[in-house]
Amino acid sequence: MPGFDFGISKEEPMALSPSVLVTGATGLLGRAVYREFQKSGWFVIGTGYRRTRPNLLRCDLTDEEAVRGLLQEYKPDVIVHCAAERRPDVVDRHTQAAINLNVHATSTLAREAAACGSLLLYISTDYVFDGRNPPYGEDDGPNPLNVYGRSKLEGEREALRHCPGALVLRVPILFGEVESASESAVTVLWLKVQESAESCTLDHCQQRFPTDTRDVAAVCRKLAERARQDPSVRGVFHFSAKEQMTKYEMAVAIAQAFNLPSNHLIPLTEQLPASTLRPTNSRLNCSRLELLNLSVQPRPFTSAIADALWPFTPDKRWRQTVFH
Ligand code: NAP
Repeated sequence: MPGFDFGISKEEPMALSPSVLVTGATGLLGRAVYREFQKSGWFVIGTGYRRTRPNLLRCDLTDEEAVRGLLQEYKPDVIVHCAAERRPDVVDRHTQAAINLNVHATSTLAREAAACGSLLLYISTDYVFDGRNPPYGEDDGPNPLNVYGRSKLEGEREALRHCPGALVLRVPILFGEVESASESAVTVLWLKVQESAESCTLDHCQQRFPTDTRDVAAVCRKLAERARQDPSVRGVFHFSAKEQMTKYEMAVAIAQAFNLPSNHLIPLTEQLPASTLRPTNSRLNCSRLELLNLSVQPRPFTSAIADALWPFTPDKRWRQTVFH
């Protein structure tokens, strides 16, 4: 009895196309990656865990036997490993569970990928850096400030150690099509923008580079396609949008995009003590991707955030997006 639910058959029409397994395909980035490969003609196998969907497989990636069974069954050409616990405060509260997923499951996946000859693309984060000396190149020394960043760095090392030719793609804070505004740390600001009757303070110290998941997904596909042709394309890559913004600036831009008032938004210019440390500015230097012509032009923040949030405007509420 396999430890995952079969939902799709390898005999489906695109069986002759290259195949990709997307872990975390129910999540914010995984949904965009799934769609990007699918629209480019790949045979796509997506896995989720608690959020089940038609056409996706349910697989607990912390179950080694389940991972082995999954890879032996599908032997994908490429694996894009998006699944992770990416909320730093949750990682602090449930550290062992997060390490099981972010580190140990990555290790298992990397070993099994190597055994099957699959190319592994591991999604990582700018939180592997301490944010004190930006911008950060791919070879700059990581120094994560919190447990989440450390677990993702360990995950990188497991991927590279156990799977020859593995790719690591580090990305900053993400937004995109969301199932609820609170799903991403960017779209959640929509709730603050709407509460215009009350003043609201927002961080104006930490510099961020909000990046659209559709752009990251396109980079994942380009990287995978190139690496399949050229084995010298391996190791660590960075991708990021270029617009530098604090949470306060993002909220003001959201208000402007929807012609809403922003007077109630107050910039908080001093860093308050926080239980989970976060880097002040972990801007990524993305030149390695750019030199290989594997980057994409990031979408401008204002139009991309409007794409993500219009389903939540009052008259469009009935059209909230649901994947699959
Ligand atoms: P997300 O929306 O929280 O999705 C997490 C995914 O992991 C979900 O599909 C979830 O499945 C799956 N998952 C959780 N536990 C699992 C388990 N035990 N077995 C199998 N799957 C499990 O995360 P995301 O924002 O898309 O993040 C994708 C990647 O980008 C992560 O590697 C993250 O570190 C990185 N990243 C994210 C951000 C960001 O701002 N979001 C920034 C930088 C880097 P179910 O929901 O079905 O349980």
